[in-house]
Amino acid sequence: MSRGRLVVGNWKMNPATVADATALARTVGAMAHPGTEMGVAPAAIALTAVADALRGSDVSVYAQDVHWEVAGAYTGQLSVSMLRGRAAGSIVGHSEVRRDQGDDDARVARKLGRVLGAGLRAILCVGETEAQFAAEETAAVLKQQIDRDLSDVRGITADRFVVAYEPIWAIGTGRPATGAHASAAARTIRTALRVHGVPADAIRVLYGGSVSAASVAEFAGAAGIDGALVGGASLKSDEFAAIIKAFGG
Ligand code: PEP
Repeated sequence: MSRGRLVVGNWKMNPATVADATALARTVGAMAHPGTEMGVAPAAIALTAVADALRGSDVSVYAQDVHWEVAGAYTGQLSVSMLRGRAAGSIVGHSEVRRDQGDDDARVARKLGRVLGAGLRAILCVGETEAQFAAEETAAVLKQQIDRDLSDVRGITADRFVVAYEPIWAIGTGRPATGAHASAAARTIRTALRVHGVPADAIRVLYGGSVSAASVAEFAGAAGIDGALVGGASLKSDEFAAIIKAFGG
């Protein structure tokens, strides 16, 4: 099944200023990307400026996180209505948000339900820790995450739902997984999705974790992997361009 390729840059708490983020967005907006859909996820404060810079381009904008409630006393948070006109959707369940903000699968499920219910696209992140990897628990962890994270949602469609397989031990370490490990994870993820009635063969599964110009070939050629969620390398336009090109084939 041809699902189309997708590469999204997660800029995290970078670059240093909104002006820098806007300049990077303009560079990404001008990149050639035959055969690859592109996206960027800037910091919340830069969402509006980046969305304006990319208006009319083929690059979609995503929030890095969003709250499960629609409004209220939630200091520091973004609601789905705040994304309208700015972002196509949001990353949900990134391991750094799970780690730093205490998001468990129950919260991730509520966030996912909110994003999809608002008609936005969700990029759901799942992945095992280093200890779970060493104990060969990857498949069990992914199955449990998918089961719990999807507990609140129905009627998922391929145009609005993407899964990013991000082994935590590979994020920002310069030690990516192998293509074979990513492919096995993608198989596990799709099997778990099917249990929830999700059209798994149509759902894109991205790999994330130290993807760079040097490592991308491993994943661009991996069965069942349809693109990448890219952190550090997405801040360097040459690296990001090379990753996009590799997925374009
Ligand atoms: C990420 O945090 O989503 C990520 C993939 O980061 P990096 O590419 O820097 O490992």
